[in-house]
Amino acid sequence: MTSTAIPASEERRLAALYEYELLDTPAEELFDAFTRLAAQLCDAPISLISLVDRDRQWLKSALGMSRAETPRDIAFCAHAILGDGLFEVDDATLDRRFAGNPLVTGPDGVRFYAGVPLRSPDGYAVGTLCVMDRRARGLTTGQRVALAAIGDAIVEQFEARRSLLRLFDSSQTELYHVDLVSERILFASDAARRNLGYTLEELRRVALPELLPGLEREGRLAERLAELDANPGRRLNLRSIARRKDGTAYPIELRIELLPGRRRRIALVVATDLTESEQAQQRINLLSAAIEAAQDPILIAKLGATPQDASIIVYANDAFMRQKGLSAEGVIGRPTSDFFGPQTDRSKLVAMRNEVMAGRSARVEYVSYRADGTLYHTESTAKPLVDESGRTSYFVVVQRDITEQVMRGAQLALQNERLTAITSIARTLFASLDPTLLVEALVTGTRELVGGTAALYAPHERGGFVATTDLTATGGVTVDDPLISLAAHSEVSVLDDSGRRAAVRIPGSGTGTAYVLESVRDDAFSTPDLFALGLLGQYFAVAARNVELYQELASRRDAVVELNQVKNDLIAMLAHDFKGPLTTIVGFADVLADDERFDAESRQYLGLISSSAMRLASLATDTLALSRLEHNELALQLGEVDVIAMVRDVVRVFSVTRPIDLRATAIAMPLIADEARLRQVVENLIGNAIKYSPGGEAVEVVVRARSGGAEIAVRDRGIGIPEAERGKLFGRFARASNARALGIGGTGFGLYLSKTIVELHGGTITVESGEGQGSTFRVFVPVSAAKRAPGLRRVVLLDADGDARSYVAHALRDDGYAVAVATSGEEMLRFLDEAQFDVALVDAERLGMPPERFVAEAAHRTGLVRMGLRMSADHDGWDAFVAKPFLMKDLHTAIGEALGRANGASPKKAVTAGR
Ligand code: ADP
Repeated sequence: MTSTAIPASEERRLAALYEYELLDTPAEELFDAFTRLAAQLCDAPISLISLVDRDRQWLKSALGMSRAETPRDIAFCAHAILGDGLFEVDDATLDRRFAGNPLVTGPDGVRFYAGVPLRSPDGYAVGTLCVMDRRARGLTTGQRVALAAIGDAIVEQFEARRSLLRLFDSSQTELYHVDLVSERILFASDAARRNLGYTLEELRRVALPELLPGLEREGRLAERLAELDANPGRRLNLRSIARRKDGTAYPIELRIELLPGRRRRIALVVATDLTESEQAQQRINLLSAAIEAAQDPILIAKLGATPQDASIIVYANDAFMRQKGLSAEGVIGRPTSDFFGPQTDRSKLVAMRNEVMAGRSARVEYVSYRADGTLYHTESTAKPLVDESGRTSYFVVVQRDITEQVMRGAQLALQNERLTAITSIARTLFASLDPTLLVEALVTGTRELVGGTAALYAPHERGGFVATTDLTATGGVTVDDPLISLAAHSEVSVLDDSGRRAAVRIPGSGTGTAYVLESVRDDAFSTPDLFALGLLGQYFAVAARNVELYQELASRRDAVVELNQVKNDLIAMLAHDFKGPLTTIVGFADVLADDERFDAESRQYLGLISSSAMRLASLATDTLALSRLEHNELALQLGEVDVIAMVRDVVRVFSVTRPIDLRATAIAMPLIADEARLRQVVENLIGNAIKYSPGGEAVEVVVRARSGGAEIAVRDRGIGIPEAERGKLFGRFARASNARALGIGGTGFGLYLSKTIVELHGGTITVESGEGQGSTFRVFVPVSAAKRAPGLRRVVLLDADGDARSYVAHALRDDGYAVAVATSGEEMLRFLDEAQFDVALVDAERLGMPPERFVAEAAHRTGLVRMGLRMSADHDGWDAFVAKPFLMKDLHTAIGEALGRANGASPKKAVTAGR
């Protein structure tokens, strides 16, 4: 026997062999099929796939031979791998190399051998496919070709298996072959060895239960493996702990199945190291626990493919199910839109979806619905869940129930609205200065505020309460109503048993006489309702007090007005009656003064009597004029007046006592004016000029045309007027200190009267003066007095009070207006027919006719100011509006506005033609 030669690149050949990881692996049906085929084709009893290891040949498949391996030095194959092609020994007994081989000499009795090397693609022969016979023989050419072809096929399988192994090795998946009987590891993949820290040899000596202590402890493995043995098609899935060589352990998942077609029971074990996935799982578990524990509803949904497709809920936490009143089955798998309803603003959700699609978070508030159809307000934050490819297919939504906040907000808004309403009603209450109107305003206001009906109860003189529509009424039938009585003694609002009838005490003035406001409606009163009622009651109490005060004031004022009237009448009568006797006195004094029988001294006294009586007469005239003025009776008698002629006439009369220089810039200067009144003004000014220049200095009168009218200037060189007193002299009874000091007599009426007359004409009067140097009074009169002066406006009033005691009328008179008071729209139209008014002030609710009709008939005759609680839609045609209650300055502003419009400052409304 000769030892076998070793190939030149033995180490690399061995490396190639080991790479296939075939040595000591279980037999496989596939390879057995190859040896069967080779044996059949070559008609040989023995066929082997032999792998030549360093010291042995190991048989991957052995047909017709019982041993699994032989030492290398007796192996025919060790020779076969040295050559390129088929290695054939026809009769081993005749071959020197094999004659002494135990396979030949022993019980196997091999005579014939033919083998082809199995070469890796790199050219290393790792083993052979061979056939053997116990008789000497040869192969046919066809058999040789077939043997070589099968050899190639086998190598291809080796290769395929190697790439598979590479794949496994690169993965974390561990692969084992385990003998079910001995529970020993026959094979372990790279990953398995790496993870466990053992070499294959070491692993082969370790029993599986030692490697997987978790399984053994539970006593299950043997049992489970036996189970597997009994049901070959089954696969076991187990979880366990694997123990490394160094004693550390890691979690592992095992898939065990029986390799088919074995005589030995061999299990293929695929193990996955769960360390990482278990950590991840643990993290996920923690997170899910946190999400589950969260109080806020949380859901995860899969985005619909298009905006039209619904998003489907794939996860929801407990809080979400609780919120919806559903179990997990009722929620998971349903479209999110199942929880929308009529009040859900879907546009917001579309916007949210778009944000999420774009990979951004979004926060929206919307209305969501529960399973039972009830709704809640939610503030939801949606966050996209981006996958590894960067796409968003899921999003998570965290909801927050903000119903309470929203409701609180809504309630606040409601309260606000209510307060606004109360304020508006309070305005009406305060504007109602009439006892009936006030009660009406309260009843209407209560109805507006809380709905239902309302009634006011007033205390009866003889005890008990009586329903009333008038604060001042005291009679009536008392009611026996426990709720009213209860309310009268209660500090807070009270309700009857149904909660639909409320009563609230209204504090009275002084001795605490209280009213009770009662309201009845179809549904129960809420606390805010009662609060509102109470508030209304408080306002009413103040307004009622105002009415009382106003009534008292009004009656006092009436008394004063009446007294004033009596006084004026008396003065007028006296003044009038004075004039007759005074004329007689003057006349006779003049006659006597001319009588030669009296001496010079007596005649001088008679002259004094005459001039004093004349002064008295003019005083009487002024007083009469003043009295008329105060009655607004000073109507102008307009006609054409030539100012120059009129002034010349006055000058002629005065020229007797003082030289007067008259100059005029034209021959004639016609105006539309009241001649007698204008003459009174000129007389007064020239008279003053003479009177206050006691040195006899000449007086100068100039009449000039000025734009839009005429100017009359009266100039003297007399005592002048101290600067500080100049402005006041046009007031009633005003006299300058120097005039008094010099003992120059006067009443202080003249300039007041003059100013009034000039302003009635729409003109002006001014003075320039220097003390001790003289004064110049200038009067300007416009061409036509038809347009009245701003000083005295004529106003016709139709007020809520509806009578002559109207506060507005009094206030306007105080402010210098001539005021006529109408009691209805009809009467007002009659007034406008009869006289000219600058402005009509109208409370449209008092018109007693449609406001449009009134406007159509009145608008072209006067400026129209509407007084009302609020601007109403039908304000067309009115020139101005003033909201009640108003301050007088507001009313003046409105009047000014109306005057501006009526005078054409801005186009007045369309007026019905033909009136
Ligand atoms: P009366 O002359 O009766 O006092 P008027 O109203 O006419 O009343 O004048 C008011 C006052 O104005 C006079 O008292 C006088 O002090 C002052 N006054 C009027 N005209 C002149 C004038 N031409 N020169 C100086 N003072 C004058």
